[in-house]
Formats: sequence, C-alpha cells, structure tokens
Amino acid sequence: MADSIITGIPVATGIAIGKAFFVNRSHAANLPRQTVAARLVGDEITRLHEAFATVEGELKTIRKTLPEELKSHGSLIDTHLMMLRDPKLSGAAEEYIKTLGLNAAWALEKAVADQEQAFGAIRDPYIRERMQDVRVVADKVQTKLMGLEVDMTAISGRAIIMAHDLTPADTVELQADKIMGFATVRGGKTSHTGIMARSLAIPALVGVDGLEDKVRDGDLVVLDGLTGKIVVNPTESELEDYNERAALFEDYSRKIKRQCHLPAETFDGSRVEVQANIELVEEVAAVLDNGGEGVGLYRTEYAYLNRKELPSEDELADKYIDLASIMSPRKVVFRTLDLGSDKFIASFGELHEANPAMGLRAIRFCLKNPQLFKTQLRAILRASAYGNVSLMFPMISGVKEIRQAKAWLAQAKAELRREGVEYDPNMPVGTMIELPAAVMIAEYLAHEVDFFSIGTNDLIQYSLGVDRTNRHVSYLYQPLHPATLRAIKLVVDAAHQAGIEVSLCGEVASDPFCVPILLGMGIDSISMTPQAIPGIKRIIRQTNMHDCRKLLRDVLECRTVSRINNLVMDNIFKHFPEEVTFFSSLLENDELPS
Ligand code: PEP
Ligand code: MG
Repeated sequence: MADSIITGIPVATGIAIGKAFFVNRSHAANLPRQTVAARLVGDEITRLHEAFATVEGELKTIRKTLPEELKSHGSLIDTHLMMLRDPKLSGAAEEYIKTLGLNAAWALEKAVADQEQAFGAIRDPYIRERMQDVRVVADKVQTKLMGLEVDMTAISGRAIIMAHDLTPADTVELQADKIMGFATVRGGKTSHTGIMARSLAIPALVGVDGLEDKVRDGDLVVLDGLTGKIVVNPTESELEDYNERAALFEDYSRKIKRQCHLPAETFDGSRVEVQANIELVEEVAAVLDNGGEGVGLYRTEYAYLNRKELPSEDELADKYIDLASIMSPRKVVFRTLDLGSDKFIASFGELHEANPAMGLRAIRFCLKNPQLFKTQLRAILRASAYGNVSLMFPMISGVKEIRQAKAWLAQAKAELRREGVEYDPNMPVGTMIELPAAVMIAEYLAHEVDFFSIGTNDLIQYSLGVDRTNRHVSYLYQPLHPATLRAIKLVVDAAHQAGIEVSLCGEVASDPFCVPILLGMGIDSISMTPQAIPGIKRIIRQTNMHDCRKLLRDVLECRTVSRINNLVMDNIFKHFPEEVTFFSSLLENDELPS
C-alpha cells in the first residue's frame, strides 16, 4: 500500500508522476516563538524590515516581467505590494519586537492576528479578501525570516509542485517547463490556480486536505487529475499501474488532439458546433489550440472580483473588443454578470441572505443595479462591432425578467446610437435556461429571444434540489436523472418549435456518457472547458444520429437513473470500444457511472 492517499478537487486533467516539491507551506504550525535579548532588538527590527524590502523587490521584478498571458493578474501583485509598503503591518510587528522582545516572525504573526481580530467581524467581502492578502504577504515575509526560502532554480525535472496556496506571482516564478503538475491546500474550482493549470496544460488539484501533513519534500507522488487523488509513495505495483494509465492518457490525448480541428460531424453528416467556456480573455489560445469553434460561454464575473472599484465601461470594452476581434469570425457568447450567491463584489457589500443560492444573484442582481448592468451592456455592444458577438442573460425565471433585461439593452443601444458609437444592431440575444421555471415556460421564453443556452450546472442543482458541493447529498447530483433529461428535451423541443437554436454549456456538455443523448435530442451546439473539446469532438465523429435517437428514445422510457446508466454504458461499449478501454483503465470501476 502507498504511504497515504489524499484527495482534492481536480481542476486540470491528466496524470503526473514525480517528486513532491513544496514551494510554500502554512507557517502556523512551526513558527519559531522566541524572545530576543534586549541588545539584539535593534538587529531583529532590521531583519524584519530587510525581509519586507526583499519581498517587495522580488514582487516588483515579477510585476515588471509578467508575461502577456498573465497580465490580467497584475493587479493582485499590486495589492500585495501596497500591503508590503503599508506601515500598519510592519510598524505593528516592529512594536512587538520593541515592547515584548519577540522574534520578528512571531511579531509579524501577532500583527496579522491583530488585524484579523479588528477586521474579522466585518462581513464586508472586500475586507475579507484583503485579510487573505495580508496573510499571503505575511507568509512571504515569514518565509524569508525563517530562512525557508525555496530556490526555484533547484526544481529538477519531473517536479510536482505542492503549496499551501499559489498566488499569481508564485505561478509566474515557477519554471513551467520543469513542472509536471501542482496541488494546493487552498483554492476552488474557479480559482486562478485552476485557470493557470489549464493554460499550462498540466494536471492540478486544489483544496487538498492533509497535503502539508501527508506529503514531504522529495516524496514520490502520483497526482491524478482525473480522479482527484494524490498517491504518496506508491508501491511498485501501484506505480506500474499509474505509469500505464499515464502513458495511456498521454497517447490518447495526443491522438485526439491531432484530430481536434476536424469538424464535429457524425458519420451520417449531422454537424454540432463545439465551443468553449472561458473566464479570461487569455484563454482564447487554449480554445483555438483545442479546436474550439467559438466561445459558447464567456463568464464575465472575473473582471469584477478581487477589487474595490467597479471596472469602467472602457476597461470592459477593451477586454471584450480584444476577445471579439481575436475570435472573429467565430462566435463569442457574452453572459451578462452572474454575481451574487458565492460571488460578491466589494463595492456592493455582502447581502446577508439566509439562502444566497436562491437570493439576489445574476439577472436579479443586475436588474436591481441598472447602472452596473448598463455599463456592461454598453461594453458588450461596443465589442459587437468587432466580431461575431451574442449576449445572454443568466438565471432567467420568467418572461417579465427577460423583457426588463431587454429594455435595458434597448436603452444602452439608444444611448450608443445618439453618441455615434458603433455596435451590431442585429446582435443575437439569448437566455440561459437554468431554473425549472424557465424549463416549464421555455415555449414562451423562446418567443422573446434568439437562442437558448442550457446551464445544466444550475439546472440540475435547482431541479433536483442538490448542492453538489455538499458531501452529504452530492450522490444525488445526477446528470442522467430522468428529470434532468426530460427537462433538457423539453427545452430543445421548445426552441426548435419556435425556430431558434439551442446550446448546452453546463458540464454535461463535456461528459462523454451524456453527449450521445444530447445529439439524439438534436442540440445545435455544446460548450465546455477548452481541454475537453478534442475528446468530445472525437465521440461525435464516431457517432451516427440514428443510434443517438434510438438511445434517446430508450432512456426516456426509463424510470430510474440506474436503468439509464445501464443503457448509456451499453451504448458506449457498443459504439466507442476504444473510449471504454481508455476510461475504464483510467478510472476505477466504482467511478464509472453507476
Ligand atoms: C450552468 O449553470 O450550467 C452554467 C454554465 O453556469 P455557471 O456554471 O457559470 O453557473
Ligand atoms: Mg449557472
């Protein structure tokens, strides 16, 4: 047996095998707590300020040399620089050295604790984020003070980077060519760590519990970005098994990547557009590289998070115009802001809702804050003059909401027209279908918009009443639940009856087990994380519509998820033998749909 197996959230797929290399750890457990002799207090204060200055110098260099694809993270580095220069932190630490004779690292820890205590009770999201930044900055200074600095140039071949957290600055410092993968204790699925791992095309896990306790520097680890596992010091036979899986994954990935620019056309000639979901303009490289035929979902929230001021119309328009122009003539679907719930913006404060998932989020939030909404609408309209731009609204629950949203859009258009600013007057406008209410009235909504995009991540959550991040009920989050499939079918049929196109941009779109059913329904396009595109295109190219329609008819007659799973598995075995060999050798049996 391996020494231990720990798990995290996979944010970039693949299997990496190599030596663990810690670039940072939480210092809380092994912080030196000593007092210094009175005669050495002056030296300790000097050491403190020198450590601050060194970290500042390093961050300045990184800021200056930030490569183009990471430029959008520059403002985070600026925030950290500001904190280093703020005398409140270093001054308070200096006071502790002077008055209590604490060693510098401990004094700094107390200064951070004071700030946490002073601001901890304030539920303002901006303050909360800044407290996290104070922690990051203090960790960096403590690393210097404790002499724990990691020499990044010492990273040898086949290193798997382990960290408590990876800031954009840390990621820039890493030598991408030597890194096989990374894992962090902190971070969620949409954190910048995941985005960066995906753009570096290496496997990564975030939110790994026990990482700092169970893994030591130099341990041989298997990082499995498919199942979310880290196997520490595997046995010979485990290692052999993982080596085989990794080789299989690489062969298969290379093979499907070679074909990723071919159209997603079934044997019998039906075309489905395969597009990408992105959060940063910089991800377009990955979209094009993986054969994405457009951007089916641009999640626009990122530019609003982690900052005090709202972005200006010009700032947004610059980004949006870049995206529209680079992708042109391919389509880019801008989703208007889906803020609220777990994504707050500082300038609006936290809402203190008892049940945020059902609260003031997405289109509801925008309609309550028309100025913010209109600024974004104007920026998207301005970008529409530069490419093939569409716009869609998230979390629509009724006809009135869509009409209100469109009224703001009409007003934004009228303003731009008066100002002589160019935009595409025929820019298609769509709605996401994410709520059971929208499914039930899809036939009415279809008359209000030019297209639908089904957001199954939310639709499954709301229709099955399951928060999939809640481990007590996540087993009930089932894409192949009869209710989910019927809901999708209802929406596709309503769209087609009204003569509009329908896309699907939730994670179901990248699930090889679900895609044949979606094809059977006649979905027009699917949109997914860029890295999933080659595999899904391959599935489509090996399919024929006749079989997909038959599969759909059969699954719609099933009353239970397990019956549907059996049919889906039979279909996969029959039509995609290579994929079955591939997936079943990568995943353990109990991880295949059951
Ligand atoms: C969805 O709900 O399926 C969707 C694509 O939106 P998001 O994941 O951004 O909520
Ligand atoms: Mg959603």
